[in-house]
Amino acid sequence: MSEAFPDPIDRDGLREGYWRDTPLEKMNAKQWEALCDGCGKCCLNKLEDEDTGEVALTRVACRLLDDSTCLCGNYEIRHQFVPDCIRLTPQTIHEHMYWLPRTCAYRLVYEGRDLFHWHPLVSGDPRTVHDAGVSVRGLTVPEFEVSEDEWEDHIIEEP
Ligand code: SF4
Ligand code: SF4
Repeated sequence: MSEAFPDPIDRDGLREGYWRDTPLEKMNAKQWEALCDGCGKCCLNKLEDEDTGEVALTRVACRLLDDSTCLCGNYEIRHQFVPDCIRLTPQTIHEHMYWLPRTCAYRLVYEGRDLFHWHPLVSGDPRTVHDAGVSVRGLTVPEFEVSEDEWEDHIIEEP
């Protein structure tokens, strides 16, 4: 990993490929947190069609998302500011599969698939998720700038 770009998530000392043979519910806290690729896609607001259940992604981001790093501005105490921020766990992940991004590492492992080459656990570099064009860096507008009835105008394809 580059010294100039320290990984915001602590992935040091983890066994290579642990996600291939460790079920989600057997992962320890560090292994679980390290699965996150830092794409920021789960921090975008979504629109759900009440009739079809279809979910559309918008580029309107949670107020705490930093568009330049794709990180939560205050992850540890985020629920004080965003009470409904999802807390993904091995026990609840199945409830969220209908909206989790296609490339989300939690989805991939839940489905028994491998991580992509650009995942920081594979590449060893947290920048590769951005270089591969699968993060939301530079794509978002903050939710405090767009009223909810205008979110429809900001629907995007998942990067
Ligand atoms: S979509 Fe998944 S991998 Fe990407 S930031 Fe969210 S939890 Fe992490
Ligand atoms: S509170 Fe943080 S982790 Fe939760 S959706 Fe907002 S930016 Fe993402």
